[in-house]
Amino acid sequence: MDRLTYVCTVCSEHFTRKYSAKRHNQNIDSGAAEIVRLIDYLAGRSSRQYMPDKEACVQVSSIP
Ligand SMILES: [Zn+2]
Repeated sequence: MDRLTYVCTVCSEHFTRKYSAKRHNQNIDSGAAEIVRLIDYLAGRSSRQYMPDKEACVQVSSIP
């Protein structure tokens, strides 16, 4: 698992390139988001450091 993935902490969207994530942050989230590595994001979610206000991006496929 050497694939680095970055996550926007506001919309929990995933990015494979950090500059894409940063550009998304500037364009979509007005720079309010924090771009973290997936492993750090998952750790933050576990400790409730990051609380996404919408889960559509991630779990829409699980809705029947
Ligand atoms: Zn975002």
